[in-house]
This record gives sequence, C-alpha cells and structure tokens, in this order.
Amino acid sequence: MSGPVPGERLVVIGYGPAAHRLVERLGRPGPYAVTVLGAEPEPAYGRPLLTAVLDGTLPVRALRLPEPPPGTALRLGVRAVSVDPRRRLVRTSDGAAHPYDRLVLATGAAPVLPGPGWARDADGRLAPGVRPLRTLADAARLASGSGPVAVVGGGVLGVEAALALRRRGRPVVLVHRGPHPLDRHLDARAGEAVTGRLRALSLDLRLGRTVAAREDAGAALALDDGSRVEAAEVLLCVGARPRVELARAAGLAVRSGVLVDHRLRTSAARAYAIGDCAEPLDGGGYGPDAAPGPTGRVPAGGFASAWDQAETLALLLTGGDGRHSGARGVLRLKAPELDLLRVGTTAGADETVVLGDAAAGRYARLSLRAGRLTGAVLIGLHRAAAGVVRLHQRGEPVPVDRLALLLGEAPPYEAGPPPGTALVCHCNNVTGDALEAAWRAGARTAAALAAATRAGTGCGGCAEEVRVRCEAWSGAGTREEAVS
Ligand SMILES: Cc1cc2nc3c(=O)[nH]c(=O)nc-3n(C[C@H](O)[C@H](O)[C@H](O)COP(=O)(O)OP(=O)(O)OC[C@H]3O[C@@H](n4cnc5c(N)ncnc54)[C@H](O)[C@@H]3O)c2cc1C
Repeated sequence: MSGPVPGERLVVIGYGPAAHRLVERLGRPGPYAVTVLGAEPEPAYGRPLLTAVLDGTLPVRALRLPEPPPGTALRLGVRAVSVDPRRRLVRTSDGAAHPYDRLVLATGAAPVLPGPGWARDADGRLAPGVRPLRTLADAARLASGSGPVAVVGGGVLGVEAALALRRRGRPVVLVHRGPHPLDRHLDARAGEAVTGRLRALSLDLRLGRTVAAREDAGAALALDDGSRVEAAEVLLCVGARPRVELARAAGLAVRSGVLVDHRLRTSAARAYAIGDCAEPLDGGGYGPDAAPGPTGRVPAGGFASAWDQAETLALLLTGGDGRHSGARGVLRLKAPELDLLRVGTTAGADETVVLGDAAAGRYARLSLRAGRLTGAVLIGLHRAAAGVVRLHQRGEPVPVDRLALLLGEAPPYEAGPPPGTALVCHCNNVTGDALEAAWRAGARTAAALAAATRAGTGCGGCAEEVRVRCEAWSGAGTREEAVS
C-alpha cells in the first residue's frame, strides 16, 4: 500500500473500539484529515466491560476510551446511510455528504434478534421489557431494572450477563437451547462442571429449552416444554452478526462480514474494513463466540481481533508494512465467581490430561502435542490460568508434573507474579512493572490498578492476573509492615 498524500480525507464509519484504536494509532498531526461517523451518541467505550455496568462494579465513565487525537472530526449520533464507492462519497442521517480519499468501515456487529413471535409487539418492534445487550444504553436500562430477569441464550455473553445480574441481586433464569451452557466451547464433562457451578450460584437453568410464548401481559414466558418462567424482563443473548447492510448496498463483496484480504482491503478501491464487521477472506467463522480453528486462532470477530486489525491498518495507511494474521485464541469468562479459561484447540493433540472434580466444580483438560500445549480448558482452577496461558502463547514444554501445573504449583508456572517486564494487559500494553509502580503509588485494588494503568479495561482477559499480582503485593506489603 502506498503512503498517503498529506491532507487526504479519511472517513471512518463507526466509532467502536476498532475505529477508536485506528484513529489513535494514526495519531495527530497525522497524514490524514480524519472524520469519524458514530451512530451512538457516546464516544467510543470498552464494549466488553458492559457487564461491569450491569453488576455496578464500574461507572459508565470508566468504560470510556481515551479522547481521539486533536483535530479528529467526530460526528456522534450520526449514521452513515449510504456509500458511493465510484464517487467516493458517504451520506449521513443528518443530510450531510462526506467525500473521501480513503474509507474505513468499522460498523461492528448487531445483536441477533428473534423474528416475528413472542419477542415482538404488534408493530414488529421488540416488545416492552425485551432487549439485547450491545450498547451502553442497553446496559444502563438493564442496570436500572429490578425483579427477575430471563436471559435467553447460554453462550459467553448470556452466562456473563446472567452472573452480573445475579451479583446485582436479581433472580435470574437462564434459558438455553443446548445441553449445557457454553456448549459451543466446552465438551460434555466441562459442561457438567459449569452447570453445577452455575446452579450452586443460584442461577435457575432451563437447558434444552426454547421460548414458545410470552404470557400474562409480558409478566412470564412459556417454554417449549410447557413450563413457565416468571420474569417481566427478558435479555436476548442469542448472538451477534456483522453489520454489513451499508457495504452490501454499496456493492462491496460480503459473506457473513465485509470480505477483506490480509491487508484489510475490501473489494472496493480505497475502502477497508476492520473489527466485527470484517470477515477475512481465509477466515473460518465469526464473532467472539467463534471457536478457534485448527491453528488455535480465533478466525474473526472479537475485541483482540478488532484491535489487531486496527493497528495493522494504521500501519498500512501510514506507509508501513504488515498483515493481519488472526488474534490470540483465548477465552476467559469475565465473572469472578466462575473461573473459566479456554485457549487453543484439542485438534492435533497426541496426549490429553483430564482432571474432573465435579463436587468442587473443578475441571481441566490439557491437550498436548509433543509435550507442548495445543489447547486447554480450565474451570475453577484460577491458580493455573496465568501459567497455562503463558505456556500456550510461548509454545514452551509443559512441566512433567501436570497436576502441579493445574494446582498452580509447578515452577516456573506456579501462581504468583511472573517477571515484571512481561505484558500483563495485551490490549493496553501494560507490563507487570507498570502495574507494580501504580500499586506502589497507592492503587491497591484491581479496580484502582485499572483506573491508573487501564489494565483490564480492554477484553478483561487479564483481570485474574492483575488480581493475583495485586494480592501478592498486598501480602508482601502486609508482611513487611508486620516485621518493621
Ligand atoms: C457485553 C459484551 C461483552 C463482550 N465481551 C467480549 C470479550 O470478553 N472479549 C471479546 O473479544 N469480545 C467481547 N465482546 C465483543 C466486542 O465488544 C467486539 O468484538 C468489539 O466491540 C468490536 O469492536 P468494533 O469497533 O468492530 O465494533 P462495535 O463495538 O460493534 O462498534 C461499532 C460501532 O459502529 C457504529 N455503527 C454501525 N453502523 C454505523 C453506521 N452506519 N454509521 C455510523 N456508525 C455506525 C455502531 O453503532 C457502533 O457504535 C463483547 C461484546 C459485548 C456486547
């Protein structure tokens, strides 16, 4: 890709995490006159942290991503309604026209919503009390509610949201059509452990069930086996789909997402796509719920992938070289009461180690090839999580004492703080040393460390490691005080 001519007009459609990271990386004074069109009234925020708004652990302002570089023309509450790739023109809902030299589609994904039926009113709109969870507005509305909630869909988002609402003290019924929650990610034994743990946390699970009707003027749901769920509020967590309407109407090549090559180029000249709306040509699936392919990479979609694509595109747009090659295949549930980590894949393994402790809600499955991890699932074994992630990411040999590894007692992968220079928060490039400096400056809880360093404010996947380090420093600090 050739470098920009100074002053070229770059129009970005969408202002979610992908667009935000792109604009931030392009910097200012940058080579482009950047205009960002964001349909939401809010500036960009960390969408994966919406569940922290649900349970009340983070105020809305804590989700906001840093201000864009000065000089960025931000148009918030403005929707792009058409793109004309031939005339290089974007039209917006406020009647304006934005000519561009380069265009970036970062329109993200939209929740999947049920068609006509129980979830809709007579006009075809979502019925009162029925809503998805995708925006700050959705989260704020849910957080202000009270009484029982029915969460429909037991994937990652459904389970995280159900637990967050439970933490808020609300009775929650989780209706899931699969045999166990997270069945796209977990085998039957792991599913058993998760089911047991969720029931122990007072979640009312209705598995293998779908909603048949809404009854009693919206006060209850009837399920397909004739049973009832008393809940006037219904949270839909049945998936998300790339927003491609604009690209499709403009004649760009679209499959489930806007098709892009490894340089994020769409089929239209000078037009790119990043984030949840983009589908790599050689990708094998979509979304944060997408299972890793045989290589252990998340094929497309998800926060880490969005940021990786944004950084690659910023590099390419400023005359550098790079290619998007997929993101880390790490799934970590953002719920303090359910430690669940899945990395990589079971495919290609020549050794499998399984540990099942159903009574304690613990389960582990390590998949190895030639003594190195191809994948792992850990439930209720948080002391092992950081070590397992490191082993997988670095491709290092797994310690011979597998049980010690799973109990977090295998040097050098035992629980506790690894080297200070190691990146802890990959989303925000925060090292252990930076965290420790913040801790010494007075940030003594995971939340305070997040505020000081932004660690944990991206995908939230490092939250456990931040907590473990914080505990270790606090323990050491307490001992130092006791001795002196
Ligand atoms: C509750 C929740 C938890 C999540 N947790 C995780 C997680 O733990 N890990 C993970 O990897 N991912 C997670 N995700 C997914 C993650 O948030 C997305 O992968 C990420 O937000 C993608 O960023 P994006 O910028 O591509 O798209 P989005 O965040 O969807 O942002 C796109 C923006 O573009 C705007 N837009 C769309 N069309 C137009 C238009 N025509 N004109 C103007 N603006 C437009 C939208 O309104 C939106 O603001 C979670 C998502 C949710 C909802």
